[in-house]
Amino acid sequence: MTLTDNVKTIKGVGDKTVKLLEKLGIYTVSDILAHYPRDYDEFLIPAPINTAQEGKIIAVEGVISRLTSKVGRRHIVTCYVSDATGALKLVWFNQPYLVKLLKPGYRYLFRGTVKRDNAELAINQPKMYQRNEYVKLLNNLQPIYDLTKGITSNFISKAVHEALSEVEIEDKLPASFRKANDLMKLSDAIKIIHFPKSKQEALTARRRLVFDEFTEFLTALRELQSKKTEEINRYPVSSFAECDQMLSNLPFKLTNAQMKTWSDISKDLSSKHLMSRMVEGDVGSGKTVIAMLAILAVVKAGYQAAVMVPTEVLAKQHFEEFNLRLNEFGVKTELLVGSQTAAQKKKIYAKAASKEIDVIIGTHALIQEGLEFNCLGLAVIDEQHRFGVNQRKTLKEKGLKPHILSMSATPIPRSLSLILYGDMDLSVINELPAERLPIKNCVVDTSYRPTAFNFIRKEIKDGHQAYIICPMVEESEDMGGENVIDYTETLKDYYQMAALKAGDGLDIKVEYLHGKMKPQEKNDVMERFAAGEIQVLVSTTVVEVGVNVKNATVMMIENAERFGLAQLHQLRGRVGRSSHQSYCIFMKGCAGQDIDERLDILKNNNSGFKVAEEDLRLRGPGDIFGIRQSGELSWKLADIYADADLLSLASDYVKSQN
Ligand code: ADP
Ligand code: MG
Repeated sequence: MTLTDNVKTIKGVGDKTVKLLEKLGIYTVSDILAHYPRDYDEFLIPAPINTAQEGKIIAVEGVISRLTSKVGRRHIVTCYVSDATGALKLVWFNQPYLVKLLKPGYRYLFRGTVKRDNAELAINQPKMYQRNEYVKLLNNLQPIYDLTKGITSNFISKAVHEALSEVEIEDKLPASFRKANDLMKLSDAIKIIHFPKSKQEALTARRRLVFDEFTEFLTALRELQSKKTEEINRYPVSSFAECDQMLSNLPFKLTNAQMKTWSDISKDLSSKHLMSRMVEGDVGSGKTVIAMLAILAVVKAGYQAAVMVPTEVLAKQHFEEFNLRLNEFGVKTELLVGSQTAAQKKKIYAKAASKEIDVIIGTHALIQEGLEFNCLGLAVIDEQHRFGVNQRKTLKEKGLKPHILSMSATPIPRSLSLILYGDMDLSVINELPAERLPIKNCVVDTSYRPTAFNFIRKEIKDGHQAYIICPMVEESEDMGGENVIDYTETLKDYYQMAALKAGDGLDIKVEYLHGKMKPQEKNDVMERFAAGEIQVLVSTTVVEVGVNVKNATVMMIENAERFGLAQLHQLRGRVGRSSHQSYCIFMKGCAGQDIDERLDILKNNNSGFKVAEEDLRLRGPGDIFGIRQSGELSWKLADIYADADLLSLASDYVKSQN
């Protein structure tokens, strides 16, 4: 077996599971080995029942009593387990056979996450174990993987185990270098990250894998970056008359930081060398208008421009905004996204090649096969941290060398950005438009929900809109957590009742948005929300990047404890984009001191830089598993803040390889 073989070659993986694994982005043996655990489940000795803490996993052993079963929307079985220290409620959904299986008065061992169930603590869906079966698991770390319906963590661990016993993994890193830098052998690291004996061991394995992730990234980046001083400016811009016109047409004045950035860019465009510039500015600092100015300048000088964004929703939104401001200058803009038909795309390709189109805005589907420009002078990469190296590489492989303008809201310390972006020039937009009021934040638990709903209702009455974020698309029994589908229904009912009670007939349109919807449906919902036809958008994190609906003033995030701080900051950035006072409500799905500490960082800081800094300070090296720090490039394990030392080690190593 080799790493590039299809997953099907692994014993126990059949045609049906191959299809499911594809949904997780797993096609080859190497993909499944690189499907690293999201976290680990640690089986501890059963604890006294009175030590149960909300939000924590616990194993308890005791005698059961008060067994009941209720049939409603779901079949619910409940009972209590007691030991010398107390009793704990247990709840199962849709497992009616348990009524016969469980015998009151007998001892059992249960394990699960402790939740608050009205006034008492309870475990929902606890797993039941035989004592001897549990002893075998004791002190083991069980890997927890990202899953899709039909695939269990157990299945993945079996397949990984099987693959590891068959495949040969070559280590390119010299043993001496590994020794000197405390890096494990690659084959050991892969084995251990999946099946560690302790958290410490998992961390050591992770260290090696993060080093490799950085090395690969930096190697690809070096191939990509040619010395900018050698690249002459084949797309010089000499006049900025239309840009000045556009500036005076804008309904606002640029901030000083925006002015400075625009001045950097216009100098680049008219200089001897190609532009390669990164614009870093916090969410809402106004990066889009800067991109528009650059595009207008380039198009008026006779060249084409491309704008790449990470999501289709964002592409659509940019397309509309660009049309609004650039149409009057005769700039012809076109949208190119994955959901268009082949015929539509072909038409666009033809027009791009014949230069009937000046600007193409799209997702990375745009840079894939088929699209040829007549004379691409500028490529804008928005939310650039969301693109992997491979996606950026495609441009280069097509033999295109336009001016490059990258934009990102990820605050990266200068020392790191030097490594990551090499010799790219940097402009920082470090101020928000003056009209903006700081967002008011609060961290609350679910008992505050009715208050929050009423608060949102009041905002809507004042003509505003709100986002509510849930971590899940639909109900999931093993993960728990709020889901957009049920939430939307509940909220609709709530607001209908509220209108009756208040007698004001306020008709609030609530709709949902999630990643599994068809692109057309997503666009439709987003458009109606932007147009103010929908007042409350209940969404998964698909709205996280870049979406701009100025009239929205409330962001409420359910199960806020599930998200990384960078991601929460991005989500919060969807409000506070106008002169209206905006609010962000972080709703905790469970309690815990660590949760409070993390969320307080967001409550007390509105700046992305500060959030990143505090986050790093708070996280010990052991906290690296668990919460996905999504929003940071497209690494599986690496975290540029926490792994800064490895990044510079990898950078030195890559340099030494030439
Ligand atoms: P981001 O930097 O997050 O991409 P956007 O470019 O989407 O932010 O800008 C957010 C909002 O602020 C937009 O509606 C934009 O029109 C507006 N905006 C941009 N610059 C200014 C400014 N100088 N004054 C007031 N509003 C501005
Ligand atoms: Mg943006």
